[in-house]
Amino acid sequence: MLFDSNISVAVRCMDCGVFHIQNVTLFDLHKSDMHSMSCGCGKDIIRLKSKECKTFHVYIPCEICNKEHLFTFTSKQVLTKKMRILECPASRAELAFIGNRQLVEEVVTKYEKDIRELIDVLI
Ligand SMILES: [Zn+2]
Ligand SMILES: [Zn+2]
Repeated sequence: MLFDSNISVAVRCMDCGVFHIQNVTLFDLHKSDMHSMSCGCGKDIIRLKSKECKTFHVYIPCEICNKEHLFTFTSKQVLTKKMRILECPASRAELAFIGNRQLVEEVVTKYEKDIRELIDVLI
């Protein structure tokens, strides 16, 4: 594969509120059936699965709904210069960001800054 098959995924652990960024390649996903990420607290935060590198499934356990949400994309949709926001369909809470690494990192930095500012206001 000559094209850039790197995807960045950022997910927030609903228990700790910490963002986790991970870079995955479609090759990684192809090698294993299920690629899962867990937080330092032991909570599973996301599971990724790719079917023959064509479709891409993202499973995110949602604390709000108490169930797992499934998002499906084609690899073309994820391997772009854009970034996608994965929202809880019920509460519209942002669960994860996926796509171009630079954009994902920018958005996470912004979110962390916002959260810090919010904490400053509360204190
Ligand atoms: Zn956690
Ligand atoms: Zn939900």
